[in-house]
Amino acid sequence: MACPRCSALCSDTAIRAPGDLWNTICIARAKLADGTLAHASENSTATPNFYQVASGQEWGRPFVFRFHCTECRQAFVLELAGDREPSASWRAEAASLLNPNRPQ
Ligand SMILES: [Zn+2]
Repeated sequence: MACPRCSALCSDTAIRAPGDLWNTICIARAKLADGTLAHASENSTATPNFYQVASGQEWGRPFVFRFHCTECRQAFVLELAGDREPSASWRAEAASLLNPNRPQ
């Protein structure tokens, strides 16, 4: 369940144009800057990393970035996949997927 801080980020978004992707990256960067979101630790080894992409470097390379809300731990994924027909999305992940104790 999302909290008031991140509920506005919880709508899944299919990103269809480079401008949409850029807007989404800018929103994520702003939410990182104001402390609403934090990087998931697994991002630390990601190539390219979020700030390279957000600064316009490494633009066009596939990536998956994961974030979580610092208040309620709601997880978010920003993904760019594919080279020839890139598809990008922003989505909220169900919290239960992150629970290592969930029934298999
Ligand atoms: Zn939240």
